[in-house]
Amino acid sequence: MNASLASQREIAKQPEPSPAVARFLKRGPRLLIGGEWVESKSKQLVSVIDPATGREIATVADADQADVDRAVVAARAAFEKGPWPEMTPAQREVLLWRLSDLIEKNADELSELESVNNGKTKFMASIIDVPGTRNYFRYMAGWATKITGDTISTSIGGIPGAKFHTYTSREPVGVCAQIVPWNFPLAMAAWKLAPALAAGCTCILKPAEQTPLTALRLGELIIEAGFPPGVVNILTGLGETAGAALVAHPGVDKIAFTGSTSVGKLINKSATDTLKRVSLELGGKSPVVIFPDADVNAAIGGASNAIFFNHGQVCCAGSRLYAHRSVFDQVVEGISGAARSIKLGPGLDPQTQMGPLVSKEQQDRVLGYIESGRKQGASVMTGGGAPSNPGYYVEPTVLVNVKPEMRVVREEIFGPVLVAQRFDDINEIAAMANDTEYGLSASVWSKDLSTVHRIVPKIRAGTVWVNCHNFVDPNMPFGGFKQSGFGREHGRSAIELYTEIKSVCMAI
Ligand code: NDP
Repeated sequence: MNASLASQREIAKQPEPSPAVARFLKRGPRLLIGGEWVESKSKQLVSVIDPATGREIATVADADQADVDRAVVAARAAFEKGPWPEMTPAQREVLLWRLSDLIEKNADELSELESVNNGKTKFMASIIDVPGTRNYFRYMAGWATKITGDTISTSIGGIPGAKFHTYTSREPVGVCAQIVPWNFPLAMAAWKLAPALAAGCTCILKPAEQTPLTALRLGELIIEAGFPPGVVNILTGLGETAGAALVAHPGVDKIAFTGSTSVGKLINKSATDTLKRVSLELGGKSPVVIFPDADVNAAIGGASNAIFFNHGQVCCAGSRLYAHRSVFDQVVEGISGAARSIKLGPGLDPQTQMGPLVSKEQQDRVLGYIESGRKQGASVMTGGGAPSNPGYYVEPTVLVNVKPEMRVVREEIFGPVLVAQRFDDINEIAAMANDTEYGLSASVWSKDLSTVHRIVPKIRAGTVWVNCHNFVDPNMPFGGFKQSGFGREHGRSAIELYTEIKSVCMAI
């Protein structure tokens, strides 16, 4: 490792997993297809690594084209015949609630699995990821019985005296392939599965290759909840093989993807051949704008959380800070102090506040960005390095003296790295905030309502938080402007992603 990237921080040893998690890790590699746990036709395996130690903790199946074919056949059969299409919305609601209850019952095991697989602390998983997942299934369960169409008045002419009764219905879009990333593995699976199931679709979920474990445990709970065979299929494996095969498969009706903008573009192109429905929740480089009249202490806390929550591996992370010149030094000093006080360590250690990044690849990527920032003239206020211990840690980092054209300012780093810039003229700040190809989110910090209401409409982003950052709710639409994707998850918008509108025009 480059000497400038070394850190003196002490890292504790990862505690042993609980008996329940140890048992789960020993279950053999398998795929969930048609309600059965089956081997992959490829017989290939993918290693699952604990990012706190760099050691293999399990292996999972590497699904290939033949497995994708089987899963699509199972999902199509479940969509077209059998119990699922015959179920009432209220019966789908009951199944989703039962699943949420099972998530609650197994919350401790799920939190621990998420921690040893992703690197986040078990504590965070237990207060954010797992209850968020439970609540998401509960919220979407309610939508199953609330999907409606409209009665339409028409003015169809041409036939004297003819009358028409016209209405719309919303019908499930069909077989959905859902490809999710590694930053919130269980919660991202819920964001995809829950609205699709509420709408009556069938699903093939592909978790990220680094973080398949909670998806597999969720598969067990889906069977236990009583979902009919084939309604949810789970394929572990690689994006470029299993993922790409799903996207290209003519038997899939819709692709829902969360991940990088580069892969989102590939998926969108490939899905065009069969004109699949596509929704894409992609990257971000979200601005945090602190005005001179903000509650500076609240803004410091909020901006720290905006970038360091989940180790910065958050699509809507507040990774570009713009603080007014009059408060810039105070804000940067405050965030740097917060960064220095964060205790790094393994996710199962209760003392840990920030775990490792998800993989060696991600650690190298993030350290590479920090190095590129240095080379292009940025100064490191704090952090910038990695402890020498095993495990993929990166220190929470604040970079100053950055320029708009630097890679660290333009590209999504997806790690705990903040770039801080000052601004003078509040009339120029919207243009600075919008100076990015992304448009996922932003936050503005001000006590002046007039300032807030003037800036919010100027920001080109799917979510703008005011005096807060990173808060999401199942009822609040979430998605991107510009190259942060299209389609909105959550709420009614998510149901719209998983339904087609049918117009029925009846001559009466
Ligand atoms: P990717 O976008 O590559 O991965 C997201 C998901 O897509 C994974 O399940 C992946 O599988 C799958 N995938 C990859 N290639 C294809 C393909 N050709 N067809 C279909 N599916 C595919 O993200 P990475 O994990 O590679 O992370 C790289 C960078 O992406 C990060 O550093 C970060 O900047 C950004 N990112 C952004 C996220 C966001 O929410 N905005 C989330 C995750 C990453 P597999 O795991 O096998 O690659």
